[in-house]
Amino acid sequence: MRILIAEDDLTSRQMLAGVLRKAGHDVLETVNGLEAWNILQDNDAPRLAILDWVMPELDGLEVIRRVRALLSPQPPYLIMLTTKGEKTDIIAGLDAGANDYLAKPFDIGELRARVEVGRRMVELQEALVRSREALFHQATHDPLTGMMNRRAILDQLDRELARAKRRGEALAVGMCDIDFFKKINDTYGHHCGDDVLCRLAQILKDSLRTYDSVGRLGGEEFLMITPIEDGVDAVGLYDRICRGVAESSIATRSGEIAITVSIGVAAMTPESSVDKILEEADRALYQAKNNGRNRVIAKI
Ligand code: GH3
Ligand code: MG
Ligand code: MG
Ligand code: MG
Repeated sequence: MRILIAEDDLTSRQMLAGVLRKAGHDVLETVNGLEAWNILQDNDAPRLAILDWVMPELDGLEVIRRVRALLSPQPPYLIMLTTKGEKTDIIAGLDAGANDYLAKPFDIGELRARVEVGRRMVELQEALVRSREALFHQATHDPLTGMMNRRAILDQLDRELARAKRRGEALAVGMCDIDFFKKINDTYGHHCGDDVLCRLAQILKDSLRTYDSVGRLGGEEFLMITPIEDGVDAVGLYDRICRGVAESSIATRSGEIAITVSIGVAAMTPESSVDKILEEADRALYQAKNNGRNRVIAKI
C-alpha cells in the first residue's frame, strides 16, 4: 500500500523507508509537516501515514489535528513517531487523533507489525465503504434495468419540484406504460418481457437530455422528469419519445419485437406535490390508454 513518511531526520527516514519498501510498500517521503498536510488533503492521498512529532513548519501533532478536522469519509491511519516516550505526550498524540504511535529509536519488528495493523484497518474501512456504496446502489436501483427504482425516482421528483419552484422554472413529468405488455409475456415468455423492459429503459435514457431523469416506477411503468426551459415544447418532447419507441425494433432473445407505449404528461403548478403531479400524470396515462394507446396525453 502507499504510505507517507513525514520525518525530518535523515537517518530515521531512510531506515523507515527502507524497511517499508522491503515489505513491499510504495513509500512517499517528506521532511516537513506542511508538505505532509498538503499531501494528506489530496483525494488520492496515501491511506497510511507515519508522522514525526517535531518537524519544521508544522509539527506532527498539528498535522494530525488538521487531518482529523477534515472529517473525510475515509480518513487515513496515522502513526505518530516520537522520541518523547512520556505518557502525557503519547496521550496528547492519541487525543489529537493518532491511531497509534512508535517511539524512537524504533524496533524494526515492531514497526512492521504496527504498519500491518494499520494496513488491516485501512482495508477493513475500504471494505465497509464499498459495501455501504453497494447497499446504497441496491436500495436506489432497479436490478433488472439498472435504472433508478421507484423510491429513487420519487425522491428525485421531490427534489426537482423543489428546485424548479425555487427558481421559478417549469417542469413536466411523463408516466410511460408499455401497451399490451401482458401479451408480450404471454406470447414470448417472461424472459423476453424482461428484455423488452431493459431495451425500453435504454431507449428512454437515450431519448432524454442529461438534466432529465428516468426511473422504473414498477412493472412496465416508467417515470420521466423533464425540467422545461423557455421555448421548449414539453409535449413535443414526449411525442418524439412515444414515436421513437414505436419506430424502434426491440431486440430480445426471441428476436425483434415491436412495441408501443402510452404516456401521460403533467406539468408542475405552484400547488404541485409529488402525489398530485403523479396523480395527474396517471389520469392522463389512463386517458391515453382509453383513446387507443400509442399516444401522449398531456395535462398542461
Ligand atoms: P395496457 O396496455 O393496458 O397497459 O396492458 P398491459 O398488458 O401492458 O397491462 P397489464 O397491467 O394488464 O399487464 C402488465 C404486465 O406486466 C403484467 C405483468 O406480469 C407484467 N410485468 C410486470 N413486471 C414485470 C417484469 O419485471 N418482467 C416481466 N417480464 N413482466 C412484468
Ligand atoms: Mg523531527
Ligand atoms: Mg401496460
Ligand atoms: Mg401498467
